[in-house]
Amino acid sequence: MAAPSPYSTSMGSVRAGGSTAALRVANQRRVIEALRTGGSDTSVTQADIARIAGLAPATVSNIVRELVVAGVVEAVSGPGRGTAVRISRKAGLIAGLDIGHRHLRMAIGDLGGAVLTEHRLPLVANHPFEQGLDMAETMFEKLLGELGAARTDVLAVGMGLPAPIDAAGLVAAASILPGWVGVDARAEASARFGCPVHLDNDANLGALAEHRLGAGAGHDCMVYLKVSSGVGAGLILDGRLFHGGGGTAGEIGHLTVDSNGPICRCGSRGCLEAYSSVGAVSDMLLHQHPNASMADLVVTARAGDVAVRRVFEDVGSHLGWGVAMLANLINPSALVIGGDMAQAGEFLLESVRDGVRRHALASVSSTLTMSVSSLGDRSGVIGALLLALDHTELALPAPTP
Ligand SMILES: [Zn+2]
Repeated sequence: MAAPSPYSTSMGSVRAGGSTAALRVANQRRVIEALRTGGSDTSVTQADIARIAGLAPATVSNIVRELVVAGVVEAVSGPGRGTAVRISRKAGLIAGLDIGHRHLRMAIGDLGGAVLTEHRLPLVANHPFEQGLDMAETMFEKLLGELGAARTDVLAVGMGLPAPIDAAGLVAAASILPGWVGVDARAEASARFGCPVHLDNDANLGALAEHRLGAGAGHDCMVYLKVSSGVGAGLILDGRLFHGGGGTAGEIGHLTVDSNGPICRCGSRGCLEAYSSVGAVSDMLLHQHPNASMADLVVTARAGDVAVRRVFEDVGSHLGWGVAMLANLINPSALVIGGDMAQAGEFLLESVRDGVRRHALASVSSTLTMSVSSLGDRSGVIGALLLALDHTELALPAPTP
């Protein structure tokens, strides 16, 4: 049974008494919406389309036939697939680009949201934005080459950056992603890729991905907490990403834990991030485990290393405090922890849960499910792909009368 479509659409409802043509167009869009599922298998049976779209099976069958003739939809063969169809690759492609402090990941997908190919490369920390975009453009060409596709096949790119992005689309906060500050990343990337680029913060895109396809599925009020070089939250409120008045909502990493604490990347003092980022963990374990990666530290913790376990516990307690502050305000039903730190799994989660129980109202903590990301380090790029999908309309054939 297919899940309801995670594809958010601005499609309005058809009023009673609307013209027959308008109804046909609206029904066609409903069918398309049911097909834009995202995830690994984007095929949907016609019976499921009828159920998801709330249309009669005969109506779905007629519309699907028109869409197949127009090349927008194709039949899926295989055992047990029956009348399954999916959006055809011929209808166009989209791309997702996730740029981190030290990595770049890109995926190309179809307009059903399925990932067709994906690649990851390391990036130099504090890279100038031109270098990041040069590498992204090279990767774009390589991925298109793998698919035998052309640049003109790509209708939109979704892009995530690990920094606050203001309402004008500029990278805000001088010290957080230095090589990108004040850059109109959307325009710069659009000039490189030759199509519209839609930009958002990396934690927001992680939230989008986990909400639609991951550990936050089914939770219309959820928090995605990304803990990597920085600490930030993506907020899903009433089923939609919440950006705030200036576009930078969710900067939980800069809540003040201790006003006499260490100086943070943002220039403030004693921020949550200064106690719980991957960099903070490295600093705390500098003598015991110099140059250890997060994956190395998790292996060490599993082997029983007391110092590493204690550091994960401390990080979890601090994060639990921050989550409790946020949870008291917005009462989410799910918290999903992603980013590099999520590799610590239960070593981290246990103390996050404990911190939330200690600092949040009982009515808030008792209704909050806490887990680590199910999409792992792919959540950013999947979110970027979903962002592009949400902003891309399919060119649909005129319905036959
Ligand atoms: Zn800070």
